[in-house]
Amino acid sequence: MSYALLEKTSLSKSPLLPVVGQDLNAPLIHGGQVRYANLDYAASAPALEDVAAHLNEVLPYYASVHRGAGFASQVSTSVYENARKIVANFVGARPDDTVIFTRHTTDSLNLLAGCVQSILTQKGFTEGRSNVHGEVLYLDIEHHANLLPWQALPHRSVVAADSIAATLARVETQLRAGNVLLLAVTGASNVTGEVLPVNELAALAHRYGARIVVDAAQLAPHRRIDLSASGIDYLAFSGHKLYAPFGAGVLVGRSDWLDTGKPHLAGGGAVTEVRLESTRWSDGPARHEAGSPNVLGAATLAKAAATLAALDAQDWHSHEQQLREYLVAGFAAIEGVNVHSLFSDSADYPECGSIGVVNFSITGYDAGLVAAYLSAEHGVGVRDGKFCAHPLLNRLGLPSGSLRASFGVGSRLEDAQRLIEGVSALLRDGL
Ligand code: PLP
Repeated sequence: MSYALLEKTSLSKSPLLPVVGQDLNAPLIHGGQVRYANLDYAASAPALEDVAAHLNEVLPYYASVHRGAGFASQVSTSVYENARKIVANFVGARPDDTVIFTRHTTDSLNLLAGCVQSILTQKGFTEGRSNVHGEVLYLDIEHHANLLPWQALPHRSVVAADSIAATLARVETQLRAGNVLLLAVTGASNVTGEVLPVNELAALAHRYGARIVVDAAQLAPHRRIDLSASGIDYLAFSGHKLYAPFGAGVLVGRSDWLDTGKPHLAGGGAVTEVRLESTRWSDGPARHEAGSPNVLGAATLAKAAATLAALDAQDWHSHEQQLREYLVAGFAAIEGVNVHSLFSDSADYPECGSIGVVNFSITGYDAGLVAAYLSAEHGVGVRDGKFCAHPLLNRLGLPSGSLRASFGVGSRLEDAQRLIEGVSALLRDGL
């Protein structure tokens, strides 16, 4: 069955872009030496080859930024500040947006939550409910990174996102009550890959005087985002999901909150003047970037962003879409495989659909054992567990977790093929 599908599909066997760590010419040989089929891009994507090359270009000039007159320091400073401009371009930032380099999405969202907390404190919203804008609204499908920072704030509400229409309606009801300061939503679910209507949600938030932050950890590596066009106020994402190494992330957005919020870290580089008893904090990105920054992380994240920005959007989306559809069709033909999704009405929303993620379980089998079997016996890497989204997994009736296969620009059809074969073999022969 799956071979017939493979022949019929028009997808080229080539990946869209070369990534590090895969011998792209190596044939897939079962039972012998096999190319590893990495179907775990949603956790951390392999670095692009041109990102690795850029790392080697920048490495010789590695020096402390902003503080040295030496040549290497000047080059490093320019690489770092240029990375900020590339990221701003990548997300269509407005001229007065601030681009802050962080450690990852989690860090970015905690930074913003710290600013929101400062604003609430300044406005005197520390206790009890208030009938003025002071509440954060988020969805029950969020990754913990976009849930726990808000859960720690004094005023919050949660909306169940079980269909897109119902989500929009419930969000509007909450916004209409007039309390919401910030709407926090994921751009694409890290569990199922389904894309949220973030442009529509941004318009809704603004209609009722609220702002929106989009957790784009999953969206940014798969879709173009344009802050100027969409009106999204804040955006967070991570380098390691964007085909760059670990250790760098971004928060981009409106500068007023970021400039009034408590500095994310206290220390050198974030200040304009320090006396023994008092400090004047900087505005702009420096305010939240105390300490020696991750120049290589910022440079490689920006390089990945520039490479993705140069892709033809149609090729980019259809490459992942075809892989996804191929895998879903393959699974549909195997009795005992269940594919999980959130929304049955995505087709009614043109900006939605799904990134290259398929969430599944196998009746009668523990997800962790299946993942271990696929890795050991078939050389396929998938993720299993609760995906840092416990409330959602509980709502989906999967309290002990499920499996997730995810694709990206380096994925090949053979990767999906191998997963289908592995799952078929499991159901035929057992563990
Ligand atoms: N948000 C989403 C939707 C994610 O998928 C992830 C990571 O899986 C995160 C946030 C957290 O990303 P990081 O671990 O890079 O902070």
